[in-house]
Amino acid sequence: MKCPRCVQRIHRSAVQCPHCGFSMRDLDLQYGKGEVRMRKLSDAAGVLRLRERKKASKWLDEFEARFPQLFFSVYYGALDEMSNIRQFGMWLLNHGAFEDVDLSRPNDGGVLFVVDINSRTASISYGYLLDAFLTEDDTFKVLSAAHPYLLQGNHVKALNVVVNKLSAVLRKRASHARRSPEKYEQIAGNKQQGMGDILQRIRSSKQPRTYTKDNHDYHREETKR
Ligand SMILES: [Zn+2]
Repeated sequence: MKCPRCVQRIHRSAVQCPHCGFSMRDLDLQYGKGEVRMRKLSDAAGVLRLRERKKASKWLDEFEARFPQLFFSVYYGALDEMSNIRQFGMWLLNHGAFEDVDLSRPNDGGVLFVVDINSRTASISYGYLLDAFLTEDDTFKVLSAAHPYLLQGNHVKALNVVVNKLSAVLRKRASHARRSPEKYEQIAGNKQQGMGDILQRIRSSKQPRTYTKDNHDYHREETKR
């Protein structure tokens, strides 16, 4: 994976980025340590209409039907200037307790598409189970394809493009992995070691928790919905 701060290559299990000193603890200090109770489709910014939400939910369900270990989630929010969307996405995927995702699909197999409606930027984070199948280059291309729609504020179309393009990449990799599993097993095997620190399976309990005060405003807004 790439460090969410300096974007240089680091090992998932690294407690700290050897290049810039970044650690997940820095993000916990900024955004909070607790779980964030949310749904696969979290529209804190209120950008989707009801009809669009229904369509979007269908796409996310179809994604799960296609990939039994994975789930796709999307968060629309208004981030403040202090927030780095890439870091925020990584933090949220680590802390999200997705109440409409089955426990058989841990966050390690999650994809999180974060859209900041203030800056009109977006980011894709994914859990370590996907490390063998997705690269930052893939997600960059997927985001580039959706970029024109994000600029237009056509969020439903942007989401459609992201889900479809990402599914296409995963389908291609999955069929490749079936043909030559060694390469993928090797990547996945290496990643398994000491992974716990960075991407914990925090969804072991699904009890809702109250938000801690140090969470950001937009998280608290989210709970009020
Ligand atoms: Zn770094």
